[in-house]
Amino acid sequence: MSGSPSTALRTALLIDGELVNGNGLAEPILNPATGAVLAHIPEASTEQVETAILAAHRAFASWSRTTPQQRANVLLAIADAIEQHADQLAQLEALNCGKPLHLARQDDLPAAIDVFRFFAGAVRCQTGQLAGEYLPGYTSMVRRDALGVVASIAPWNYPMMMAAWKIAPALAAGNTLVFKPSEHTPLSILALAPALNALLPPGVLNIICGGGESVGSHLVSHAKVRMVSLTGDIVTGQKILQAASKTLKRTHLELGGKAPVIVCDDADLQAVVEGVRTYGYYNAGQDCTAACRIYAQAGIHDRLVAELGAAVASLRFAGKRDSDNEIGPLITARQRDRVASFVERALSQPHIERITGAAVHSGPGFYYQPTLLAGCKQNDEIVQREVFGPVVTVTRFEALSQAVDWANDSEYGLASSVWTQNLDKAMQIAARLQYGCTWINSHFMLVSEMPHGGLKRSGYGKDLSSDSLQDYSVVRHIMARHGEHLA
Ligand code: NAD
Repeated sequence: MSGSPSTALRTALLIDGELVNGNGLAEPILNPATGAVLAHIPEASTEQVETAILAAHRAFASWSRTTPQQRANVLLAIADAIEQHADQLAQLEALNCGKPLHLARQDDLPAAIDVFRFFAGAVRCQTGQLAGEYLPGYTSMVRRDALGVVASIAPWNYPMMMAAWKIAPALAAGNTLVFKPSEHTPLSILALAPALNALLPPGVLNIICGGGESVGSHLVSHAKVRMVSLTGDIVTGQKILQAASKTLKRTHLELGGKAPVIVCDDADLQAVVEGVRTYGYYNAGQDCTAACRIYAQAGIHDRLVAELGAAVASLRFAGKRDSDNEIGPLITARQRDRVASFVERALSQPHIERITGAAVHSGPGFYYQPTLLAGCKQNDEIVQREVFGPVVTVTRFEALSQAVDWANDSEYGLASSVWTQNLDKAMQIAARLQYGCTWINSHFMLVSEMPHGGLKRSGYGKDLSSDSLQDYSVVRHIMARHGEHLA
């Protein structure tokens, strides 16, 4: 990993302990902040996907027999390697996603490192049911064992973090992996590949690049893959379920989100404004937990719209000095145009009001102006569908029960928040929300110790936390017959 990232981009895949170039079509990798082509990376060919899966299958026999302590030591060494190269990895993350470098340094890299350290500890202190004689003369005990080869498929919004979320628990539990980053953002994990290769036995972790249909589809339909873990779109999740059904693979799906933000009359207005300004627009809203669907109670609604509008209009982006920027561009021109068309359709409805933004940013890169829309109604497309961009809607409500009903009236079920200074009210609302996570007077905060994952069409399976270790392993019953009477 030496040299400046712009001149020393690594493009080799990691297959069976070898760093090799892909034999498939070379695809351009762009810098979304400028639109410039950074590199061309050849995809893995179908033969290379097969080689990677078979290598992971061979490596499983010995890796799955290592002790938690041995695996923990490897995870700790991986965390150290990421830490050692954190600055360079942050630069690649900024280059490949267009995100401000200071945010990649301060948020993405420390979070990825912490995930490896967390799972190194968690795998050594798992708990479970007591061994015992549940039938006289037989002692039963429970083991938790690895599954086999896991195909892990990641999105583009947080490449290093998503790699950590997928690789760390799967390895910790004793599985071997074929990991595929998003075709848009492979640079950071490819840069780390030599360090990972030096720390892991051949075949335990393979990294292949390429598109979903051209490469991912081979991975998820292969008979030797025992589990598929995806973070991505609902439609991709559905395709993966269909492919996985043929060989009954375990699946772990983290799909989209459309987080409701319930703001009660007695909320701390300043805290809401600061919270939504930050967590509705962080990563240009390309976040499945983004605080994007506000329900504001009638008594606070007008002040919230006015103050939030001014706050959102002050968000800094696309400035010459990257350290001043608070958000980056959308990942591709296509994604930016998709966001723009959502907003256009919304504004074609007379009841929806543009408070700020609502235009493509003029100038290079795939930027879209941070946008706030008010007057939105529950059945509007912009309230119901995931935009995955810097767009937040506000809907007025009168009664709390109505806000809860509207918040739950969504095909998504990943994240939500409630803002009130009355804890009793907050707890009652939190208990009724059908979301994998509910924050109270906050939004967006994640910790490695707590589970992250959804309900409904946001998918199932948990990332982070010891729940994730359970998802990547299977419970087995061992029963020993030993008689009942001591002679
Ligand atoms: P995507 O579904 O287009 O792609 C995700 C990954 O799936 C990519 O690596 C892609 O190559 C692969 N893929 C696509 N089609 C495939 C197929 N047929 N077979 C196998 N692999 C295939 O999603 P994206 O555009 O990269 O990411 C945005 C989506 O991810 C959003 O919907 C967002 O909400 C979701 N997301 C969810 C979470 C979460 O934790 N729930 C986190 C981040 C992003």
